[in-house]
Amino acid sequence: MPKILTVTSPSLPPLEEYLPYLEKIWASRTLTNGGPFHQELESALAELLGVEHLSLFTNGTVALVTALQALRVTGEVITTPYSFVATSHSLLWNGLKPVFVDIDPKTFNIDPALIEQAITPATTAILPVHCYGIPCDVIAIQKIADIYGIKVIYDAAHAFGVKLHGRSILNFGDLSVMSFHATKVFNTFEGGAIICQDRKTKERIDYLKNFGFADEVTVVAPGINGKMNEMQAALGLVQLSRVSEQMRAREAIYKRYCEAFEGVPGLSVAAVPEGVEWNWSYYPLLIDSDMFGASRDDVYERLKAQGVYARRYFFPLISEFPMYRGCVGASECANAYEASRKIICLPMYPHLEESDQTEVIRALLTIAKGAHSYLSMIGEE
Ligand SMILES: *Cc1c(COP(=O)(O)O)cnc(C)c1O
Repeated sequence: MPKILTVTSPSLPPLEEYLPYLEKIWASRTLTNGGPFHQELESALAELLGVEHLSLFTNGTVALVTALQALRVTGEVITTPYSFVATSHSLLWNGLKPVFVDIDPKTFNIDPALIEQAITPATTAILPVHCYGIPCDVIAIQKIADIYGIKVIYDAAHAFGVKLHGRSILNFGDLSVMSFHATKVFNTFEGGAIICQDRKTKERIDYLKNFGFADEVTVVAPGINGKMNEMQAALGLVQLSRVSEQMRAREAIYKRYCEAFEGVPGLSVAAVPEGVEWNWSYYPLLIDSDMFGASRDDVYERLKAQGVYARRYFFPLISEFPMYRGCVGASECANAYEASRKIICLPMYPHLEESDQTEVIRALLTIAKGAHSYLSMIGEE
């Protein structure tokens, strides 16, 4: 059995780089509650990402739940079924009703042309996702939000470092929510953040993540404990120094896959639109079973048998899970359904070794119709 290759693998700088940070934490005994590393990471991230106001969180899901609280969202929220369950779970945790709208089959993001018809008097917000870090049609979405007077909260868990026409994608909408989970482009083991557009909103978010405390004796809202601790922040500071180098490594891996699969019938990769500075976060490969000669699920199983643990991001759709089946729009998302049956994400992380990537390519091309001709192209026959 060859070694197991997973779809993501966390980037970890050498252990000795963390030690000075740990020594400082041990010396100061400041473990959490907005300590020096928390402050430092907040400013460093805001600067690197090109945003004005950023609040760190203990994870992305608590950040999503808090973001909806921060804007006092009520009633119905329009969202996409093509995402990780945490997107919609954050609505249920707030007692809100998800209304599912289909995706654009090119970008895998919510289709703005379908949003308007899903709006009712109870709609107060839209919760789109920049899926795979590919930007949503932020201009069209904002236009609708402005006309109807509703809020926009982006689930930007995949969108670390993504820019649209030179501007951070996190600056669109009322709020953007990030995840720094181990599987993401930038990680603090577990972690997250909310990006907002003004100081007053940041203040409210910071109260909410600390039980609602505005000062020692004043509680202004039924807040939660969403604080990032000093250990997480220190992990983030060490990561941060590597992130641009890691992004370049991802780009090279992405391009190598593209070269290997070029001209193979039935394989295509999600296209990143013009004007986007992307983060190379995933390699979402679309498999057309007739042309390729095997279905996506066959490919998934056969790769697994070879030690390549690719992932079906996102399958099943959120709207297929029992708690969402009855929601408005749950059974009307044909493009999302198709994507969930055709896409497989291949191993994609900065330290993926060239020989291992060759192994993934070989394992996949072996499954293709006329496999021998492709394998000879990569020098495997
Ligand atoms: C990872 C992820 C989340 C959840 O973030 P956590 O930090 O793991 O809680 C939410 N939405 C999407 C789209 C994600 O990929």
